[in-house]
Amino acid sequence: MINLVLFGPPGSGKGTQAQKLASKYNLKQISTGDLFRYNMKNQTELGMLAKSYIEKGELVPDQVTIDMLIQELKKPVDAKGYIFDGFPRTTHQAQVLDEIVKDLFNDEIALTLALIVKDEILVERLLSRGETSGRKDDASEGIIRNRIDEYYKKTAEVATYYRKQNKFVNVQGVGEIDEISERLFHEIDKIKVKEL
Ligand code: AMP
Repeated sequence: MINLVLFGPPGSGKGTQAQKLASKYNLKQISTGDLFRYNMKNQTELGMLAKSYIEKGELVPDQVTIDMLIQELKKPVDAKGYIFDGFPRTTHQAQVLDEIVKDLFNDEIALTLALIVKDEILVERLLSRGETSGRKDDASEGIIRNRIDEYYKKTAEVATYYRKQNKFVNVQGVGEIDEISERLFHEIDKIKVKEL
């Protein structure tokens, strides 16, 4: 099994790259943002609760997010592991993820890959995605900047958590999509060689 975390601010390309990693290494992509949007679309209780935070560009409370993730991880899958996209977003979530992966799979997070992109490029990318995504949280610069602020206030410190475990690597997140994927593959292949 290989479990990876794709890390970075909103608009850094986590969703796009998580798909590439999922198909290259036969992993199941778990995007907490997508799970929330699915629940919002279907107007579940969880969706209604999450919506009030998401549409302001704030993080959904940890326990709500963690419970949803556990539900997802309990589903049977035909894959060699998971790629976590948009989770963990707080140090508490990161600690809990370690516990869950240990309890459910007797395994651990192999590596956290962080996509590095400057704030101004993030804002540009998200505004342009907002023209077609239909996402309210992509639609205004104010909300986008709020999401980036939340990242610096609550999420950026997750890097320290993984760095202390020697499981963290920065990858330049600007360039052609395939070029960025190659950078990620290169880092993952290094740890796969170590594990053999
Ligand atoms: P994303 O699709 O990853 O950009 O997530 C969209 C929104 O969903 C975020 O701005 C948060 O409001 C919420 N969200 C997604 N993942 C998490 C998480 N791990 N913790 C808290 N909120 C989250």
